[in-house]
Amino acid sequence: MSETAKKNIKKGDVLIREGDRGDSAYVIESGSVEILILRGGNLMQIGTRGPGSIIGEMAMIDDKPRTATIRAIEDCTVIEISRADFAHRVESADPIVKMVMRVIMARYRDMIARTQFMQMPAYMTAAVENAENSGELHDLAVNAIKIHNELKAALEKGQLVLFFQPIVAVQEMKIAGFEALMRWRHPEKGLISPGVFIPVAEESGLITEMSHWALGVSCDALKAIHAVVNPGTTDAHGPFVSVNFSVKDFSAGNFSKQIKSVLQSKKINPANIHLEITESLLMEAPGAAKDALEECRSFGTSVSIDDFGTGYSSLSYLHHFPIDSLKIDQSFIRAMSRDPASEILVKSIIGLAHNMNIKVIAEGIETPEEAAMLKKMGCEECQGYWFAKPMPLEDLLTFVKNWTPPLIA
Ligand code: C2E
Ligand code: CA
Ligand code: CA
Repeated sequence: MSETAKKNIKKGDVLIREGDRGDSAYVIESGSVEILILRGGNLMQIGTRGPGSIIGEMAMIDDKPRTATIRAIEDCTVIEISRADFAHRVESADPIVKMVMRVIMARYRDMIARTQFMQMPAYMTAAVENAENSGELHDLAVNAIKIHNELKAALEKGQLVLFFQPIVAVQEMKIAGFEALMRWRHPEKGLISPGVFIPVAEESGLITEMSHWALGVSCDALKAIHAVVNPGTTDAHGPFVSVNFSVKDFSAGNFSKQIKSVLQSKKINPANIHLEITESLLMEAPGAAKDALEECRSFGTSVSIDDFGTGYSSLSYLHHFPIDSLKIDQSFIRAMSRDPASEILVKSIIGLAHNMNIKVIAEGIETPEEAAMLKKMGCEECQGYWFAKPMPLEDLLTFVKNWTPPLIA
C-alpha cells in the first residue's frame, strides 16, 4: 500500500495547481486554503476551505488535469490520500460499501464527463463539494484516516509491542506455550489496548501488515524462550507461541504462503506456532478461511478457535473445520463458578471437543477454584491472570526461569 502522510503547508504555498495532473486528495487538518481558478489570465478566488474539508478528491477517480488551484491562506497541515491508498481502502471495505463506492464513482465520473460540456459554474461545483464535506460520515472517515496514519507511523517507529501470556498445561502443571498480545506504546497516551486499535487496523487494512509483523516478532520471541527452556536444543515439542489473526488477513488469498515463508526465513519449527482465529471469523469466511487453515496445518502449524462460544457456531459444526484446539471464552469461565448450568455447559464442550480429537484451552482463569474445576473436567490448558498476566518478553524470560507450578486442589 502506498503512503498516506501528513504534510505541512506554509502560508502562500500552492498545494494543487490548475492544469497539473495529480494522484492525491487532501484532508485539511488545520489552517485554511483558497480555491482559485484562472480566468482571463487572472486568478479568481471562488471559495475557501477549512479543517475537515477534502480537497482534490477528483484525483481518486482519474488523473485528469486539476480544475482549480488550491493555495494556503495560512499555515496548514493536511493529510494526503493517494489514489492507490484509496483504491486499497475500497478493496478492503465491506462488500456492500465496496459495491456502493464503485457505483458512486462510476456515476461521478460520468457526471463530470457530461458537465465538462455544460461548463458547470464554479459556485455549483463549490455547492456540491460543501454538501459532500458535511455530515457525520465525513467526520468518521476523517477520523479513521487519522488513526490509520498514526497507527502506520506507530508500526514504522516501533511503538507496537507484543506482550506474552503463559498458557499452562494443567494436568501436568507445565508451561505449554504463550499467547502473543499486541499493545501500542503511545508516546503520550501510554499503553493502548488492542481492543481500541485492532478494529481500526482491521477497518483500514493495516492489520495485514501488523499481523505479519506480529508473526515475525513471535518467532524471535519463541527462539529466546526456547533458549531459556531447552538451552542447546531445538525441541519441536517445546513451548509454542500462539498468534492472533483477523478476517482481513485471509482476504489477500496468500495467507498460508506468507505464514510459511516467515517460518522458513526465521527457521522456526511450524509445530511451535499456533494460529488463533476467532469463531466469528470462521463463520464470516468459511470457504477461504477453511482452505487457508487446511494448508497451514499441512505444513505443521496448529490452529485454535478463539473466543469459542461467543459466535453462532454449534459444536456439531466444528468437524467441518481444520482445527486442533478451541479456546473457551472467558465469559463461560466467569459464569461457571456462579451457576451450575454453565458448569455443565463447559463440561459438555470439553467432552464433545475431545470426541472430535480437539484440545481445549480455557481462557480468563482468575481463581484457583476455576483452575481446579477445569483440571477435574479434563481441560488440557488454562490461561488467565491467576497464572500470569500478559507481560513483555524480558519479564517473561524471567518468569519462565523462575516458574514453580502453583498448587491446584
Ligand atoms: P483475545 O485473543 O481473546 O485475548 C485474550 C484477552 O484476555 C487478552 O486481552 C488478555 O489480556 C485477556 N485476559 C487474559 N487472562 C485474563 C483474565 O484472567 N481475566 C481477564 N479479565 N482477562 C484476561 P487483550 O490483551 O486486551 O486483548 C484483547 C483482544 O485484542 C484479544 O482478545 C484479541 O482479540 C485482540 N488482539 C490482541 N492482540 C492481537 C493481535 O496481535 N492480532 C489480532 N488480530 N488481534 C489481537
Ligand atoms: Ca486470542
Ligand atoms: Ca479469546
